Amino acid sequence: MGFSEESKTEDGNWVLEHLDTIANFPKPGIQFKSIGPLLRHPEAFHKVISSLAERYKDAKIDKIVGLDSRGFIFGTALAYEMKLPFVMVRKAGKLPGDVVKIEYSLEYGTSCFEIERTSISPEENILVIDDVLATGGTASAACSLVETLGGHVHEVVCLIELEGLGGREKVNRPVYSLVSVEP
Ligand code: AMP
Repeated sequence: MGFSEESKTEDGNWVLEHLDTIANFPKPGIQFKSIGPLLRHPEAFHKVISSLAERYKDAKIDKIVGLDSRGFIFGTALAYEMKLPFVMVRKAGKLPGDVVKIEYSLEYGTSCFEIERTSISPEENILVIDDVLATGGTASAACSLVETLGGHVHEVVCLIELEGLGGREKVNRPVYSLVSVEP
């Protein structure tokens, strides 16, 4: 475990203990944070989902919005646990029917997210979930889609926050992460 790695909760330790860092993947210079080991450890996966369910149990969340694609893993598990509806934000061209689209910046280049227009109703209280928060461009774009449909972003939740990349500032809505680690 690196010196600066910080778990904010006891359950964050489950994330830290089952997190792999793969150097230079998918591109040179990127330290890829892999949640594979966590998913292969049922107790750790269960603790993480239970911990999030506990955090949001009184938050009057209407829907959970998961981000393509690793946000789907934790988002669906949490939605199942909390008996809440789950909504997908997907990369362009994956969702059928009438969608709302947003283009957003990545470290290199741009990407495009979509959400089904009827998936969120005005005034709904939305929890946005992904595995990793890095520069915040991805989560920020997803929040904009939710708000375009009239939803309110209760919080952006991620398992792993990469420190010092300005993700929280970019998102500019409440952010909660189970652990903060060096990028
Ligand atoms: P960003 O828009 O920079 O906050 O990037 C967040 C998105 O990219 C999330 O969907 C993550 O799954 C993915 N991501 C960014 N950096 C990493 C990393 N170092 N390791 C794993 N996933 C990452």
